[in-house]
This record gives sequence, structure tokens and C-alpha cells, in this order.
Amino acid sequence: MSLAGKKALVTGASRGIGKAVAIKLAAAGAEVIVTATSLERAKQTADQIVSLGHNAIPVKVDVGVSTDVEALFQVVAAEFGSLDILVNNAGITRDGLLMRMKDEDWDSVLDVNLKGTFLCTREAIKLMAKAKSGRIVTISSVVGEMGNAGQANYCASKAGIIGFTKAVAREYAKRNITVNAVAPGFIETDMTGVLTEGVKDELLKQIPVNRFGTPEDIANAVYYLVSDLGSYVTGQVIAVNGGMHM
Ligand code: NAP
Repeated sequence: MSLAGKKALVTGASRGIGKAVAIKLAAAGAEVIVTATSLERAKQTADQIVSLGHNAIPVKVDVGVSTDVEALFQVVAAEFGSLDILVNNAGITRDGLLMRMKDEDWDSVLDVNLKGTFLCTREAIKLMAKAKSGRIVTISSVVGEMGNAGQANYCASKAGIIGFTKAVAREYAKRNITVNAVAPGFIETDMTGVLTEGVKDELLKQIPVNRFGTPEDIANAVYYLVSDLGSYVTGQVIAVNGGMHM
């Protein structure tokens, strides 16, 4: 299923899931704007995509900051003139037990994960509503549905993304814009690389397929949703978690 001629934006594409998504969409023919909080890291992904023979543009942005997101969409307007696909992938964790959780741990996680998704979606919707066409994917998490001790801020942000996704899906379905969430389970990236072997062993016991996920597992689900294969799917949460939560 080709994405030739499609214009895509993937946030947090310097590594992990976002990088795999950007490469997948580009390999299917889309032109991709890739972002990170450092231009150098965004450029590394863009260069890799270009070396594979596809078009990619790097942009530095903090998705939790309105002015950064406005500047990002000025680049989208200048380079693309329109936007077919938005993947709200940028995300962070600041884990800790609730009693000891600092205001800034709460605020930073909510700002990047939830407000960032809101800011980017709001800008993208303006372009997509005008074109009466678009695909938006948000990245939630299995813990947004299950909860997880030590991640009250992160779980709140990821559960918030689910409500946000469903509201926007309802608001823009008539404009031929689909909005869906992908909820990954435990995926091997830098984000989960900080966990101890003991914690990983315990997590593995909760995963019926008996392996951790790869960024490509998530990229495949995103690709399905943004391609013509996913045209009748909106307002859904697609679990990609090896059966960790059913
Ligand atoms: P990762 O390896 O830590 O990568 C995070 C990405 O987000 C990086 O590209 C990072 O850019 C970018 N980013 C961080 N803060 C940002 C900000 N303020 N503005 C813009 N970009 C920012 O994480 P990952 O594991 O690939 O996770 C990707 C998404 O999947 C996240 O939303 C995460 O919550 C979600 N998820 C992951 C898992 C998992 O098991 N890994 C499970 C469920 C959900 P820099 O390089 O500039 O820092």
C-alpha cells in the first residue's frame, strides 16, 4: 500500500518508535518531516532516510511549547503546503511514587505527552480540515489503560491521550479525517532501556507472546492506520502489546 505523494510529520523521530515510524512511512513513499529536541538528532534520522533514497526534513521542536509548534507548522506550510499524516509520538517519562512526585515531574510529562499532542493536532487539523482529508495517530500506552505504580503522571498523560483522540475523531470524522491511538506495550527503546534486568524479567512474565516489542511492531500498526487499509477506522485504540493487556 503506497504512501507516494503523501506528506507526513512524525514528532520525536530521533530514535525508538518515532524513528521506526518515520522510516516506515518514508519507505512507503511519503515525504516526512522528522522532529526532535535537537536539530542534530533530527538530522541523523533525516539523513538515514535520505540515504535510503527518500525525502526527509529535520526540525528542532519542543512539542510542549506553543511557539515551537507554531514555528514547526510554518515549516510544514513552507515545505509541504499541506499535511496528510500526523504521528504524535514525542513522549517522556519522569517516574516516581506519587507521594514524592514533584510538580515539575507532573508538569513536564503532561506538557510533552498530552499538551504536545494537543498543540500539534490543533495545527494539523487546520490544514487537514481545509483539505477535507487527513490521518492522525497518537501514541498512548498500555499503562494508560492498565495503570502502573510509579507512573501516575505518565499514565494520566497516556489516558488523557485516549480521551483526546476519541473527541477529535468524533469532531472531524465528517471531514474525512481519521484519528486513532496506538497503545504500545513494552517496546525495547531508550525509554525502557533504563529499567533493571529484574524489572524486565517481571514484565516479561506478563507478556503472553513471551517477548518485548520492537519499534517496528508499532510502526506497522501506524502504517496500517495511515494507509488506505485504515480508512474505515477512527476513534480506536489499537493495542500492540503482545497480549499484556486484553
Ligand atoms: P524514546 O526512545 O525515549 O524517544 C523519545 C522521542 O521523543 C525522542 O525522539 C525525543 O527526542 C522525543 N522528545 C522527547 N521530548 C520531546 C519534546 N519535549 N519535544 C519533542 N520531542 C521530544 O521513546 P520511545 O520508547 O521511542 O517512545 C515513543 C513514544 O511511545 C512515547 O510517546 C512513549 O510514551 C510511547 N510509548 C513507549 C513505550 C515503550 O515501551 N518504549 C510504551 C508505550 C508507549 P530527543 O532525541 O530530542 O530527546
